[in-house]
Amino acid sequence: MTREEYQKQSTDGLYRAIARLKAERGAVFLVHNYQALEVQKIADHIGDSLALAQAAAAVDARLIVFCGVHFMAESAKILNPGKKVIMPDRGAGCPMADMVTAEQLIAAKKAHGDPVVVAYVNTSAAVKAESDVCCTSSNAVKIVASVPPDRKILFVPDRNLGSYAARMSGRELVLWPGHCYVHNRFTVDDVRTARDEHPGARLAVHPECPPEVAALADDVASTSGMVALVRDNPRVGEWIIGTEMGLVDQLSAAHPDKGIHPLSRRAVCNNMKLTTLAKVAWALEHEANEVTVPDEVAVRAKRALDRMLELS
Ligand code: SF4
Repeated sequence: MTREEYQKQSTDGLYRAIARLKAERGAVFLVHNYQALEVQKIADHIGDSLALAQAAAAVDARLIVFCGVHFMAESAKILNPGKKVIMPDRGAGCPMADMVTAEQLIAAKKAHGDPVVVAYVNTSAAVKAESDVCCTSSNAVKIVASVPPDRKILFVPDRNLGSYAARMSGRELVLWPGHCYVHNRFTVDDVRTARDEHPGARLAVHPECPPEVAALADDVASTSGMVALVRDNPRVGEWIIGTEMGLVDQLSAAHPDKGIHPLSRRAVCNNMKLTTLAKVAWALEHEANEVTVPDEVAVRAKRALDRMLELS
């Protein structure tokens, strides 16, 4: 069937088609927390970048369908090169990952006298290949703290996550001027408004938020960290969640007894929302949009990813 034909199908029809194709093709679905809730429902593994990287490394199935953005699918391919990795929408990239190129990083390493490069996983494979170790928002503090104290650290590309890791680890970092357009939009005014509307709620924000917003939060956590916070604090009945709406929707569905409020409804990642059920069914039927990484890049990028997984 064509993508247009799938687009005309009902949601139930798409779920049936996806289940049949999944069995026929021997596929596994890795789905990021920021995907639309209807896509989250097909997940074999759902989580943040760290959880999905760990799941990707252990996948036994022949085919990985990655519902997320391009750098995540690249990481899955690098960590499990024997598997075929496809994406429902080839155009689903991450603007933050595009804020640093391998050429820029090579020049910056020279300018800073060969620092240890800690690369957020939100980077291309080519940038990872020029880096010493990767990190995610779950483990950034631990990874930064693991660098020998006499070494200078260059952190790419998210300056907000880098500044959070610096504050928490007590290390000085050279920060790249990158940011996530979704999290960087949260403001102190958003916090004031949400606290006024929900005075008893506990506020959890993602470390990609600006430092002045993180400073006002009760908790700073990755998306998996937020899932654990809400699950492990049964006495907290109301939460304000400062991250992308996909996680807010996931938490609301999982905890209908709690008040789960977004810090801002503007927090939507258009790139993550490019994945739809119709595109999943079409890509799966045709095994389309295969993600590949040149061998010489993959080998070097894998070293940085493996070091992160060892330290996690
Ligand atoms: S939420 Fe931000 S960091 Fe994540 S994919 Fe979207 S733009 Fe990139």
